[in-house]
Amino acid sequence: MLKKFLYTLWIIILSLFVLLSIKNGSFFTFIEDMENRTFDIRQTALANAGIKKHNPNIVIVAIDDASYEYILDNYGEWPLKRDIYAKVTDYIQQTNPQSIAFDLMFVNSIKNDIGADKALVDIFKKYDNVYTSMNLDDQSEELRIAENLPDKLSINFQNKSKQIDLGYLEYTNCRVILSQIIDATSNIGMINVLRGDDGVLRKMPLALQYKDKYYPQLGLKVALNAMGLDYKKNFIIEKNSKMTLGNKTISIDTDGGVILNWYGPAGTFENIPLYKIIKAAEGKSDEHFDFNNKIIYFGATAASLFDIKTVPVDKVYPGVEVQATYVNNLLDGNLIHKTSPFSNIIIGLILALTTILCVVRIPSMPVALGLSVTIYAGYIMLTYYTMKFFNTWIEIVSPLMMALVAFIFTVIIKYLIKSRDFDQQYKLATTDGLTELYNHRYFQEQLKLQTSYSKRYNQPLSLIIIDIDYFKKFNDTYGHQSGDAVLKQVASELKKNVRAADIVCRYGGEEMSIILPNTGYEEAVNIANKLCTIIASKKCKLSNNRESNVTISLGVSGFGADGQTPKELIESADKRLYNAKENGRNRVN
Ligand code: GH3
Ligand code: MG
Ligand code: MG
Repeated sequence: MLKKFLYTLWIIILSLFVLLSIKNGSFFTFIEDMENRTFDIRQTALANAGIKKHNPNIVIVAIDDASYEYILDNYGEWPLKRDIYAKVTDYIQQTNPQSIAFDLMFVNSIKNDIGADKALVDIFKKYDNVYTSMNLDDQSEELRIAENLPDKLSINFQNKSKQIDLGYLEYTNCRVILSQIIDATSNIGMINVLRGDDGVLRKMPLALQYKDKYYPQLGLKVALNAMGLDYKKNFIIEKNSKMTLGNKTISIDTDGGVILNWYGPAGTFENIPLYKIIKAAEGKSDEHFDFNNKIIYFGATAASLFDIKTVPVDKVYPGVEVQATYVNNLLDGNLIHKTSPFSNIIIGLILALTTILCVVRIPSMPVALGLSVTIYAGYIMLTYYTMKFFNTWIEIVSPLMMALVAFIFTVIIKYLIKSRDFDQQYKLATTDGLTELYNHRYFQEQLKLQTSYSKRYNQPLSLIIIDIDYFKKFNDTYGHQSGDAVLKQVASELKKNVRAADIVCRYGGEEMSIILPNTGYEEAVNIANKLCTIIASKKCKLSNNRESNVTISLGVSGFGADGQTPKELIESADKRLYNAKENGRNRVN
């Protein structure tokens, strides 16, 4: 019953894995997907608990739905003319911000309003703390000319880690912005993001490769500026997949991305609608803003503008807040460190060993299961706290998978050993050690059982009792050990020459008995005669390389005529055995 259940469970789990691995292309993708989901759950729990505090100095100027409407109503067109951005930038600069970053690409304007574009270009010339963005992509040559970017935009990026393959961050084309802006400033960064197979954004690149040079992420430049570091320094990914930024150490994942820690759902950072600042800048409102020492990020949050990402803590999260989160992570050294595959295997082995110990040591299966599940729950809690206190992502899925496999295997093996032990004990309890025939107790049980069957189903049944002739003398002549050898050989001959259904037992001493179910008296006498002839004709090997003949005498009784109870059948067979002895032995009666 239990065996059947376990095999079924095992087959279900196996087929589930096979099905899932076919469906998702690979089993490992499935594991990775599951693991990513556990990360999202942990991040969401931490974000909801308000564990990680975002940097209040990072402020978003949101091009939200209200601002979109305001701009359409007041300027009659979209996008907003660049001279308004220039005006707003100038206004913000009056309160000494740390930096102003546009998560917006100022590509060639359709209306080609040279005056407006020039006003913005002048802003980049005037302030060295204003940043803007570009994007690298793999669009076809039909859409993009692979432009050459000036050297001043690139950074020195070196990869000394064998684990990290930066190929993933290599792009063939660039979406360029106004050449006047490129000429005016080196404060331009990329705003590419990295998405998982499931479309969720968990990582951001530090730098991207384009035409054999590396170009930094916009957020990296903004963060370096806030940390007082020069972006022209050497960026080296060390052998241990880490990089040093000022006094912060940054862990880098195998594809060159950094894993973000999230501070909360969309709207976590202070959001100021762009229209309010436009109004203040144009003197149309009394509202006053103080941006002293703040990092100002311009970006679209409006649903209608569709710069929306899915991140671990929120399904709808504006791209500009992703950039803000990235800068915040770099400034605080909050980036997630993922444990190596090797440590995951070690953890998996420890969990598997604990499981095996539980199952082997605890006799009760429900208790063993309960304790194992408690240990797994404890482990999951531990992974939550390591993420909370150490920003470390310890895997859950693969170690628990190892533990589960260990659990199932141990249960199966434990059950098999148990059933083998039971079989052994049963055999010990029912067989005779010397002859390996069934013992006297088993004989009595079976005779009782068979007589009751015969009675109920009206079936024939016979009993043969066998005694070796002159065995005392045999023992005296050749010794007890030779006697034992003969007993064994006679027993094995008897067993060999009856049907599988016949039950051959050692009745006691050198007496043996055979219960013959479904066999009438006449047939049993024939069998007894056959056995008598066979034993008499066979030479028995004795212990000291000698051979000797033995003979047996047999008494047969049949169910019905000789009685219906074990006692009657035994008495009757005994009596006939005595007669066989009296009549000269080596015969059947
Ligand atoms: P009979 O032909 O009348 O049966 O003569 P017998 O000598 O065989 O007489 P009986 O059946 O009374 O003798 C039983 C002898 O079988 C006594 C004992 O020495 C011997 N015997 C009983 N059990 C064992 C055993 O396990 N090993 C050996 N070697 N001898 C046994
Ligand atoms: Mg005897
Ligand atoms: Mg005897």
